[in-house]
Amino acid sequence: MQINTFNCPQPDEKGYFGEYGGSFIPPELQIIMDEITSSYEAIRKDPAFIDELTDLYQHYVGRPTPIFHAKNLSKAYGAEIYLKREDLNHTGAHKINHCLGEALLAKKMGKRKILAETGAGQHGVALATAAALIGLECDIYMGEVDMRKEHPNVVRMQILGANVIPVTHGRKTLKEAVDSAFEGYMKDPVTQLYAIGSVVGPHPFPMMVRDFQSIVGNEAKSQLQGMIDALPDNIVACVGGGSNAIGIFTAFLQDDSVTLYGVEPSGHDINVPGEHAATMSKGVPGVMHGFKSYMLADEQGEPGQVYSVASGLDYPSVGPQHSYLKDIDRVNYRAIDDKEAIDAFFELSRLEGIIPAIESAHAIAYAKKLAKEQGGKSILINLSGRGDKDIDFIMETYGQEYGL
Ligand SMILES: *Cc1c(COP(=O)(O)O)cnc(C)c1O
Repeated sequence: MQINTFNCPQPDEKGYFGEYGGSFIPPELQIIMDEITSSYEAIRKDPAFIDELTDLYQHYVGRPTPIFHAKNLSKAYGAEIYLKREDLNHTGAHKINHCLGEALLAKKMGKRKILAETGAGQHGVALATAAALIGLECDIYMGEVDMRKEHPNVVRMQILGANVIPVTHGRKTLKEAVDSAFEGYMKDPVTQLYAIGSVVGPHPFPMMVRDFQSIVGNEAKSQLQGMIDALPDNIVACVGGGSNAIGIFTAFLQDDSVTLYGVEPSGHDINVPGEHAATMSKGVPGVMHGFKSYMLADEQGEPGQVYSVASGLDYPSVGPQHSYLKDIDRVNYRAIDDKEAIDAFFELSRLEGIIPAIESAHAIAYAKKLAKEQGGKSILINLSGRGDKDIDFIMETYGQEYGL
């Protein structure tokens, strides 16, 4: 097992993948960002750092995660379906892969604290976990509305020793939490590290988070070689900010026989602004949160309102490398709506005994469509997380519909 940071396309010196990425931040913060870049450039080549992270992946997270040949689902859908089981990681999703990397980097840089915003609390819990393990203070900014909705995650973060800071202005959700976390960071960017939760934000974060997540595809490639002695015909992953997707795609970008699909949420209605988060289908290139990428903007050019039944997918932009991969036609971006995702959530639960995160269910739902079109070919799905966090919501909202 190794962290493959070199055998994949690197952004240019300023962090651009084609015309996307870069760094659009105040000059005083750029100084700090440059320090983060040079520290990261140094440790990514440092065998001691790689050993430490690899050891944690193995003995703390539980890597390598298995690949499971889902035979019942394969039969039902009409293709050979393989699941990369990121749901089996400690804390139940892929996010721990980059949170540990960021926390270790913070420690090496002599930072005292890591901070971030969180929407549904998944990134907050993964980061609070890494902070507890590595020995760092941790501030998590969270909208008051989200805190009420996602109470169990708030409690988890508090038990893990993080400060959960309620954000009480505006709509009191993720967008406001991003602003507050940024303000908190700017108060003291020297002793704190802003640990971004996906392949988004200014350079070097899209590259760095991608590198930490590339373990997923590297493992999958060698595991499949052992199982079927071949590359998969297709790979499917859901896209919020894009970290789990780029994590599994990276090892296969040079393999032209492998068709890649990123699946974004069309929510209630892809034709009504505010009722979906289908950035690639409906967005335009622009700058937000410190980087250039496709985005869903409102009339003022500000981040637009977005919606998805999966709170991990309702982000109005997408990592810059994804925008580049869309423009060069290497990755196909498709949309799945709430209903299709919930159907797939129940199908995987009942056919394989695996309850997926609603985010991951979007990838399952797209694999079903793909199987119908192609028949028989192999599909590797990144099962980004487990669905335990979603069960109360599913029961309340969809229970009756599904006869519960
Ligand atoms: C956060 C999350 C996502 C979306 O984030 P990406 O950066 O797009 O991967 C997807 N699945 C799960 C389970 C998540 O927790």
